[in-house]
Amino acid sequence: MVKPKRIKKIKHQRKWQKRWYIFLIIAVFLGQFGNGELAKQITKMEREINHLSTVQETSSEWVNIYNHKTGQIMTLPIEDYLIGVVAAEMPASFALEALKAQAVAARTFTYKRLQRGNSQYHLSTDASIDQAWISEDEQRQRWGERYAEYHQKIAQVVTATAGEVVTYAGEIIEPLYHASCGGQYTENAENVWGGVRPYLVSVACHHNDDPNIAVKTVFSLSEVGQRLGLELETLPALAGQKGSLFKISTSSESNRVLEMIVGGKHFAGSQIRSALGLKSTLFSYQFDDDEVIFTTNGYGHGVGLCQYGAESYAHEGYDYRWILQHYYTGTEITLLQMSNV
Ligand SMILES: [Zn+2]
Repeated sequence: MVKPKRIKKIKHQRKWQKRWYIFLIIAVFLGQFGNGELAKQITKMEREINHLSTVQETSSEWVNIYNHKTGQIMTLPIEDYLIGVVAAEMPASFALEALKAQAVAARTFTYKRLQRGNSQYHLSTDASIDQAWISEDEQRQRWGERYAEYHQKIAQVVTATAGEVVTYAGEIIEPLYHASCGGQYTENAENVWGGVRPYLVSVACHHNDDPNIAVKTVFSLSEVGQRLGLELETLPALAGQKGSLFKISTSSESNRVLEMIVGGKHFAGSQIRSALGLKSTLFSYQFDDDEVIFTTNGYGHGVGLCQYGAESYAHEGYDYRWILQHYYTGTEITLLQMSNV
């Protein structure tokens, strides 16, 4: 028989054992929380605090923009300018994370140009020179009754990413972007401009609902000749052998046309694209009587961030950081320090 004193002692021990179990559970919980979620929360809070100060700093930064439609030079706060760029460069209906990726790419482009310096203005609104930009009036025209919703959505992605740029080895990158790579692979920068950029290399991509896939453009044979400065009809090969008039002689690894021979003359794929007004150099052709049918995939040069790909990845749950680092190989998303600029 156990003596009462002994029972009391056992009860006392059990009571402490129970407490130890609770302490142990709390300790394990805190340990896991501390290693994982808590650390993440702290990092997130730190990032948000940095953001707040950077929002204030960057919103006081101004940029001189040449408006190629009016011929005027506008001086705008950078973050306001970026709203007009994202509005012009990506459909406002796209997912938030895709728009955020676009906002960071546009900001990166802007600061890269600021580094270059310019006596009269820093950037042009002409998309063929720098990046497109539209005013609030143009946004109203473009979006109609959805203006307030879309403007607010774009302002939100610019603020949410305030001060963030893409860097490679500590340097602000050339953040090239395009509408659609065609849904398979983006292109190496050197295949378009000749210069190698380690972060602008071909990566896999996929798209959902892209209107730029398998687009057919039909030309008469004489029109192709006219546009390329050739008289194709007079060439002997035409007599029953139209196929020999055209030959894709070099393609890139991502299957874009680098060189094509037409009527015995060599053309760069980009020259063919430009002369025929094709959407990309990712094309094939076929003859149909006196017509040539060009089938293109994608829209744009195919280098860097692919907008339709970004939209697809955003819908699959990837965030803008992942999207940017997917298209810009080996890069980091860096919160801008004003001394970097
Ligand atoms: Zn793509």
